[in-house]
Amino acid sequence: MQEEKFDFLVIGSGLAGLTYALQAAEHGSVCVLTKGEVADSNTSWAQGGIAAAVGEADSWKLHEEDTLIAGAGLCDPAAVRFLVQNAPDAIRWLMSLGARFDLSGEDLALGREGGHSRNRIVHHADKTGWEVERAMASAVRSNRRISIYQHGFATDLLVADEECFGAVANVSGLGQRAFIARAVLLATGGCGRMYRHTTNPPVATGDGIALAARVGASIANMEFMQFHPTTLYHPQHRSFLISEAVRGAGGTLRNHNGRRFMYDYDKRLELAPRDVVSRAIEAEMKKLATWCVYLDTTHLPPETIMHEFPTIYGRLETIGIEMEKDWIPVVPAQHYSCGGVVTDLEGRTNIKRLYAAGEVASTGVHGANRLASNSLLEALVFARAAAADSTSVGSPESEPKRQFDSVPPRKCVAEAEAVRLRHTLQRAMTDHVGIVRNFAGLDTALKTVTDLKAEYASLPDAPFSQYSEETEDLLISAEYVVRGAIGRKQNVGLHYNEDLAT
Ligand SMILES: Cc1cc2nc3c(=O)[nH]c(=O)nc-3n(C[C@H](O)[C@H](O)[C@H](O)COP(=O)(O)OP(=O)(O)OC[C@H]3O[C@@H](n4cnc5c(N)ncnc54)[C@H](O)[C@@H]3O)c2cc1C
Repeated sequence: MQEEKFDFLVIGSGLAGLTYALQAAEHGSVCVLTKGEVADSNTSWAQGGIAAAVGEADSWKLHEEDTLIAGAGLCDPAAVRFLVQNAPDAIRWLMSLGARFDLSGEDLALGREGGHSRNRIVHHADKTGWEVERAMASAVRSNRRISIYQHGFATDLLVADEECFGAVANVSGLGQRAFIARAVLLATGGCGRMYRHTTNPPVATGDGIALAARVGASIANMEFMQFHPTTLYHPQHRSFLISEAVRGAGGTLRNHNGRRFMYDYDKRLELAPRDVVSRAIEAEMKKLATWCVYLDTTHLPPETIMHEFPTIYGRLETIGIEMEKDWIPVVPAQHYSCGGVVTDLEGRTNIKRLYAAGEVASTGVHGANRLASNSLLEALVFARAAAADSTSVGSPESEPKRQFDSVPPRKCVAEAEAVRLRHTLQRAMTDHVGIVRNFAGLDTALKTVTDLKAEYASLPDAPFSQYSEETEDLLISAEYVVRGAIGRKQNVGLHYNEDLAT
């Protein structure tokens, strides 16, 4: 197998991967492998912003307090403190690379989101992720020490003597290659595609979880899956997030009969916490056996809608929905995975020289629920820490016993079969491992996932297909989610099992 050598290897080109790449490049050569185009990432889709205590009336202590409350007692306090104390510097660093954030006079304009006791959301209109990805990608592209392999799909990590020394990837046009490095960062993002409805783009297939699991890295907290209550429901279009701010501006939720059903669930109505609203929507859909509920903005002044929500308005208009005239069909959708590959404060996993950062990692900062806008921050802060630590890692004293020549290509199945397996998985996860769970449903889901894995293994071999391997990665990741949910014997944060409700 052809081999490429670098000092540092990064898998993923979202905020975590590009942050690490830029920092590590100060100490050596870096390879960024990414399975689509550079900007194909959850990062590019982030709307709200990045949390950081940079306002005058704010402090890292308040940010810490809010994060711990959201995490419902399951955060790692040291990780939270590390996150919030490093936040202002991380924002300055992003700005030094050219990221443009909205200003109020000469100061940063700070937004407020649910769970934050102060205005602390640094943002770029309602497309912060796009701006951050733009700035980072441009900095990475102009750095001569960084090589980018787009359409380079990492299929296996190379590990010998419990040390990671690279990865095998299938690079479009080049075929299978080994990428050797003295430190490897997993920055592969989320796994939302295991659900039928998700805000995540198609790249979010849990590859990092599966890569790490196959070499024995620890994985935790996968049952803490965050759902966003209001995303567009449209059979032909991918889920698109209809921000909480629309409800904040007066948008109301109605069921298929037109009833404003939040009256039946919570006195805070549409502005109850996200998990409460999501549960209410799900209950209403089950009660009336419908695919969605509706967000009604027809009573709001059209100028307010167009001025405050230009991106959402424009997007809906392209599919024939006019917010001032039509109810918007919405459905809760998977949004963020709080768990992942377990790391310490330096982003180290339990496999030497293998680091993880961003959504694929479980650093301990989110506990049982993520505070809004802490995830981009986590990607930034922990990727910087991982880069600082891995640059101090020397080359292995003895060359590790390289076995990549004998790494067999991973099994692929015919794409038609992979499509069928993936859809079956998505149905099981959506029906049984969503917002409201119960033990019988979880057992059904576990049986489905294990049967699908067995079926994948027994189907006839097919030529390389990224879609097929991603489907296998989704199956592996989903098993962690289901087993985690079965093992969690208390309702906490994002995990709600109706059999445990008191
Ligand atoms: C619609 C939406 C809105 C959001 N809004 C916010 C917000 O306002 N604030 C906030 O803090 N967070 C927000 N989030 C969450 C946040 O965007 C993500 O948690 C964060 O961007 C994750 O960054 P990352 O670098 O870990 O992963 P990503 O940005 O997802 O990048 C992962 C990268 O890995 C690559 N990859 C995956 N598998 C492989 C493989 N096998 N081989 C090679 N490459 C691979 C992908 O192609 C991609 O480039 C939002 C998310 C979504 C979807």
